[in-house]
Amino acid sequence: MQPNYTYQKDHIPRGTGYNRRPALSMEPTSITIHNTGNPTSTAANERAWLTNPSNTRIASYHIAVDAKEAIEVLPLNEVAWHAGDGSKPTSGNRTSIGIEICERDVSLGEYAQALTNAVDLVAKLLHERGWGVDRLRRHYDWSGKQCPRLMNIDGKWSGWYQFVQRVQGALQAYDKKLVKVVVNGKQLAEQGMLIDNRTYVPLRAIAKALGAKIGWDQQNKEASINGVAIDGIVISGTTYVPLRLLGEEIGATVRWDPSSYTASLNK
Ligand SMILES: [Zn+2]
Repeated sequence: MQPNYTYQKDHIPRGTGYNRRPALSMEPTSITIHNTGNPTSTAANERAWLTNPSNTRIASYHIAVDAKEAIEVLPLNEVAWHAGDGSKPTSGNRTSIGIEICERDVSLGEYAQALTNAVDLVAKLLHERGWGVDRLRRHYDWSGKQCPRLMNIDGKWSGWYQFVQRVQGALQAYDKKLVKVVVNGKQLAEQGMLIDNRTYVPLRAIAKALGAKIGWDQQNKEASINGVAIDGIVISGTTYVPLRLLGEEIGATVRWDPSSYTASLNK
């Protein structure tokens, strides 16, 4: 499933009732994830509720995301009341960007799309700030509330750890630097990437260029080339393996040219 959403700003006015926009400035240091707790509402419904006169709760957040859009309801450098832990300077309320993931509709797969959109959105927010997934918090981490509740349906927060892992993958894709790949003197159409100063190359494209056979071990989630298993990472459905490791495994000469961002492989 690919992320598919628009991002729009529709800030609630200053002076909105029940102090939902206190207009306190904030230098955020983390991102807090919530579920709305409402199995039927969309992001637009959640935004509308903030300015609905019958809403008497002192509660707000920064962004609501559903299966088709993300709506920023408060500037990300202003305090919102979403963490349930008061207003001391170190509280989640005073330091964290609150993201509400809409719950509708689990049975129709809308929630799965909202979750995929949230993964992308959160990765983007982390990337823009140069942050890693260590900046992610659950509402639960601040106040003990069972939120985001749909990530804890097994009581072990498996959904949460899965979410963090997905954000990590999306973040790597955002942080990647693209690399030219040359096999036996010929540049491939596919690109590699530099991640944490390590060069990764697309396994399938290289195998094709070399006439090598690749395999996939579903049980161990491990790719192989000419029967030799090799540790890789999967980004957007493509398996990438470290250039040097691949060279060693298949007995190829590899070269990395940092000035032109080119990985070469000769065999
Ligand atoms: Zn919450």
